[in-house]
Amino acid sequence: MTRIDSLTQTVVADTESGEPSHMIIAGPCIAETDEQVMETARQLADAGISYFRAGIWKPRTSPDSFEGVGHDALRWLQRVQKEVGLRTTVEVANARHVEMALEAGVDMLWIGARTTVNPFTVQEIADALRGVKVPVLIKNPVNPDLELWKGAIQRILRANVGQVMACHRGFNVYGKSLFRNEPLWEIPIELKRTMPEIPIICDPSHISGRRKYIPEIARKALNLGYDGLMIETHPNPDAAWSDAAQQLTPTAFKELMRHLQWRQHSTDDPSYKEQVAILRNAIDITDADLLQLLADRMELSKRIGALKQENNIVFYQHNRWNAIVEQVQQHATKLDIDPDFVLKLFSLIHLESIDIQGE
Ligand code: PEP
Ligand code: MN
Repeated sequence: MTRIDSLTQTVVADTESGEPSHMIIAGPCIAETDEQVMETARQLADAGISYFRAGIWKPRTSPDSFEGVGHDALRWLQRVQKEVGLRTTVEVANARHVEMALEAGVDMLWIGARTTVNPFTVQEIADALRGVKVPVLIKNPVNPDLELWKGAIQRILRANVGQVMACHRGFNVYGKSLFRNEPLWEIPIELKRTMPEIPIICDPSHISGRRKYIPEIARKALNLGYDGLMIETHPNPDAAWSDAAQQLTPTAFKELMRHLQWRQHSTDDPSYKEQVAILRNAIDITDADLLQLLADRMELSKRIGALKQENNIVFYQHNRWNAIVEQVQQHATKLDIDPDFVLKLFSLIHLESIDIQGE
């Protein structure tokens, strides 16, 4: 039983009917027409999804972009419920959206990344939802600010709604990236560590921005024990009115689902437990060794720092840092350790060392 089973009424129902216990959400970025919505839903009818998504009020960067058809599209979602038998979910960005979505019987609401950034708006949504037992999914804010994400989750939790869940859709960071939004996996991991009761799902579509990267991001989320996935699907992705590059056809989506391997969080198998305990013990000893080596290295930094102080030399030496990077990356490659990882690790160590020299 996953955590989501014990926490989400709707997902417990899934388990009873034999469907997967994790939460899978699929559907178009935006509901464009009645036909497009019904066509997507019909093609997803046998995909075993928990909710059919479709944005109808969409905050877009440019005023020239398609922002959804609004209230009238709620009728299309009602058709999906009645004629295809799928539960539905929409994005709400203010209290009026909440009222209209609830009145139309939408089964789950989600708060988008551009709304999570604004505490007044999140509070307005929380007030409109007070006491209504509807599940709510809260996407991470666009900026990499864990406290802001947690604040939004707390506001919705205090409104005493149904299940409250988080959705990781990546972060907007400065600079070039392979993906549309940087995953910064450490942030959702820290959310899970500090709010373990909140199930978390991943949105590989908005992280990747391009459909070819969706499988690798989805697999990573599953390896990290996420409780579900939200994936944008469109019958003709290249012709979609928004996010064309990142939507999958329902066929490609079903193919991906067939190949994903869901993992359990733990097992009672005694042999597994015994072997894991031995390896964890060995890791703890290695970690202690690593820390001792770091302490020794910092001690050397202090001595170099004193020498530089005496001679009035700047602590940061560009050539020396270049030499260290080259040396450790070459060494790492020989040891089969990722040189990019080693660069990140040594950047931290080097900065700390410079701080210590300056003390
Ligand atoms: C979406 O899910 O369609 C969407 C706009 O997501 P986000 O809020 O993550 O940008
Ligand atoms: Mn989208």
